[in-house]
Amino acid sequence: PPYVADEGRYEDMEYRRCGKSGLKLSAVSLGYWHNFGTYDQYETARAVTRRAFDLGITVFDLANNYGPPAGSAEETFGRLMREDMHPYRDEMVITTKAGYTMWPGPYGDFGSRKSLLASLDQSLKRMGLDYVDIFYHHRMDPETPLEETMGALAQAVKSGKALYVGISNYSPEKAAEASALLKDMGVHCLICQSRYSLLDTHIEKAGLFDTLQKCGMGATAFSPLAQGLLTGKYNNGIPEDSRAAGESVFLKKENVTPEIIEKVVALGKMAARRGQTTAQFALAWVLHQPVMTSVLIGASRVSQLEENVGALKNLSFTKDELKEIDQILKK
Ligand code: NDP
Repeated sequence: PPYVADEGRYEDMEYRRCGKSGLKLSAVSLGYWHNFGTYDQYETARAVTRRAFDLGITVFDLANNYGPPAGSAEETFGRLMREDMHPYRDEMVITTKAGYTMWPGPYGDFGSRKSLLASLDQSLKRMGLDYVDIFYHHRMDPETPLEETMGALAQAVKSGKALYVGISNYSPEKAAEASALLKDMGVHCLICQSRYSLLDTHIEKAGLFDTLQKCGMGATAFSPLAQGLLTGKYNNGIPEDSRAAGESVFLKKENVTPEIIEKVVALGKMAARRGQTTAQFALAWVLHQPVMTSVLIGASRVSQLEENVGALKNLSFTKDELKEIDQILKK
């Protein structure tokens, strides 16, 4: 049967304004980095996407290179749009990115105007869309002048192929520069996407949040569960159907260390006292940062998505709880 979205989908989700802009994002976004490529089950991808939208998730995060193989997550998403989601296009914020290796030769990578604009056209074709809502530069390019990269983002907006633009994996210094350059071109830099979780607070320590606030930008956090480590699923070994047990080069068995597990166990005890699962606790902690517009989760099945969205039921932390978290993380 054709998909019909749940009428109650906007009742429980929280929507947060993205910096100084007109755009609100669902506090939880769904990412397509893993689990949506050719090598994954289409029916699972479909069930997760439908459930996400029914739960009030409006932000769907893609990139040219997501799969595997690269490009196939966008193709899967294109099929989902065609088969299920097209009546809801105006209720969705669909994002993509360019900046990591995508095609052979000197133009399929990094941040030239040549690379970014060609990649955006390819992404639109794979997804069957006329425009994306947010087009990101995926990582800093040490060689291309930032003015050229930001010029390409501004062009994407002016040509109508992207409504907004953002940056990802940028340092505070480069984020401020990018924002100023775009402003000169009459385009607002909407958002910065960075890795951030209880186990990885490097961006906060570097001062990124202050910079984003000053620039009127929003923030979104990827790998908020440290790819699953912060769910507690690895506390008693590595489950066979988990990312660490699979082919991922990004989360390997060696990354599951006793030091990390000790911290996750202690955080899990705090979570239980609050009536949350470890995953919900970890997501709530990311969202309690004022600059954070949305937390970007991955899910290999519907039950994970449902558990994770449940984090929204309790997003506040007492001073004592925050102190206790600091103590656990310092060990
Ligand atoms: P997470 O830290 O949320 O990890 C997601 C994975 O953890 C799932 O695929 C699942 O893996 C496991 N998991 C999630 N919830 C649960 C649960 N409740 N119980 C048990 N296991 C769970 O995020 P990702 O690292 O996947 O990143 C999220 C998104 O962020 C990406 O899809 C992408 O859109 C974006 N991203 C952006 C990057 C950038 O450079 N801009 C880089 C990386 C990601 P499994 O079941 O297989 O163990």
